[in-house]
Amino acid sequence: MKNITVIGAGTMGNGIAHVFAQNNFTVSLVDVSEKALAKALATIEKNLDRLVAKEKISAETKTNTLNNLSTHTSIQAGVQHADLIVEAATEQMELKLSIFKEMDENAPDNCILATNTSSISITKIASVTKRPDKVIGMHFMNPVPIMKLVEVIRGYNTSDEVTNTTMDLSKKLGKIPVEVNDYPGFVANKILMPMINEAIITLHEGVAGVEEIDTVMKLGMAHPMGPLQLADFIGLDVCLSILKVLQDGFGNPKYAPCPLLVNMVEAGHLGVKSGSGFYSHGHGTKDLILADQFKK
Ligand code: NAD
Repeated sequence: MKNITVIGAGTMGNGIAHVFAQNNFTVSLVDVSEKALAKALATIEKNLDRLVAKEKISAETKTNTLNNLSTHTSIQAGVQHADLIVEAATEQMELKLSIFKEMDENAPDNCILATNTSSISITKIASVTKRPDKVIGMHFMNPVPIMKLVEVIRGYNTSDEVTNTTMDLSKKLGKIPVEVNDYPGFVANKILMPMINEAIITLHEGVAGVEEIDTVMKLGMAHPMGPLQLADFIGLDVCLSILKVLQDGFGNPKYAPCPLLVNMVEAGHLGVKSGSGFYSHGHGTKDLILADQFKK
């Protein structure tokens, strides 16, 4: 396994491309947006510079990592020589189904098709391909270069061989893979998203403010980051999509997204990626600054 293609160069795609390239894989990064590709390369370079400054990697590793990367705006061109494709495009079912059809038609027959989806059914995605035994979930955590976990999700038809290859590959990236089955939200988001939603409901009901809720969870439960800060970091649109998948998949109203979350997404307040969510972002400081809407 040598040639990796990553589809989608957003928050997750650039991190996934970075980690594979730094571990000596040849990486084709594909996005429909030239702007997203340019931003991804700039982010990878900035993150590599930080690693060099901290003496975690050498300047030579930085150069090799960048040399291992190429970019494309078409899936057809980007997947031709792939041994493994990791799809990390926007979390929308129809989009992922159409990307997987295109990947299946253009990638070599033995190529494994993985998705970084946070919640969409692997079995459903596999059903639009002619190789459901080779479709698997490879769910990296954000930020990818730092977080150790990879949730490896077996679809209904995923073969043992493909599961074992994906587990081994994750270890080669220095990650710790955990094998789970394909049910809505898998393990990570089945537990995390109801907690984030409950934090937003707690804010919406006026039980406490943003900082108070996050402080209770940080200092009281030893979470490194409060749930509202984490939601900003993940992207409020991503949180909303996952909650809808949980709600539809289990048919249980306990997963219904808080109306405040729905309003914030409709208003374009998506967290870090849009500059504002529960907190205001992009000030170039590590201090947490409340978004105007939540100032008392
Ligand atoms: P994002 O919005 O930051 O990036 C998505 C990228 O996909 C964009 O650059 C967009 O231009 C690109 N894209 C859209 N349509 C495309 C197409 N047809 N072909 C190629 N590229 C296309 O999203 P993200 O946060 O990086 O999430 C990507 C995936 O990773 C989603 O499935 C999400 O659920 C999952 N995920 C996200 C997180 C997180 O913390 N953000 C964590 C784990 C998994």
